[in-house]
Amino acid sequence: MTTVLVIEDEHDIQDVLEYNLRAAGFDVLRATQGGQGLQLARESHPDLVLLDLMLPDTSGMDVCRTLKSETSTRCVPVVMLTAKNDEIDRVVGFELGADDYIVKPFSVRELVLRVRAVLRRNDGPGAPSRAIEFGELRIDREAHRVWVQGEEVELTALELKLLVTLFDRKNRVQSRESLLDTVWGMDARISTRTVDAHVKRLREKLGHVRDYIETVRGVGYRFVDEPLTL
Ligand code: CA
Repeated sequence: MTTVLVIEDEHDIQDVLEYNLRAAGFDVLRATQGGQGLQLARESHPDLVLLDLMLPDTSGMDVCRTLKSETSTRCVPVVMLTAKNDEIDRVVGFELGADDYIVKPFSVRELVLRVRAVLRRNDGPGAPSRAIEFGELRIDREAHRVWVQGEEVELTALELKLLVTLFDRKNRVQSRESLLDTVWGMDARISTRTVDAHVKRLREKLGHVRDYIETVRGVGYRFVDEPLTL
């Protein structure tokens, strides 16, 4: 059964989420504090975390950062719940590696649809199990692991999908819209600037091989066979 961990301090919202997620066929774990939520995530290996931004003991941002930095939890998708309909918060949320966000007040139906979309994206059939070796870059899709010059690089699930998508379409320019569609699997609800923020972060993490990902001005991005600088 697919398990969703809900980290939310407002009991009314917890109840509504649990009721509707269970009705949609999910198992539900609940935490009302960030620390408790982290502990549950480490111990219970949920398939997805629904994470409130404003928690009593810590911020959802910090919880997200911790989840995405630890080996045992970094592949678990995180959907942020936020009361702030603010573009900066959204981008910051994505910079931290959150996989999606939902602004309160939300419709329960939409929330369930988006939880399903995030789960599909992270567990889709589009991820063959073979490892990719490419120059100084090695990607193991199944294990969600990436190495540059033999050193492991920690990527979020979304960053990995972005890298693999660009790699699979090597030498072909991918527009931001097409990347949004493939990697995020959603329509225009997310700004194309989100793509830029993620590519920037991915390139930073790739360090020495960052120039495999080339910016095509005014269009999007391309994975190139032979970067000029390598
Ligand atoms: Ca709250």
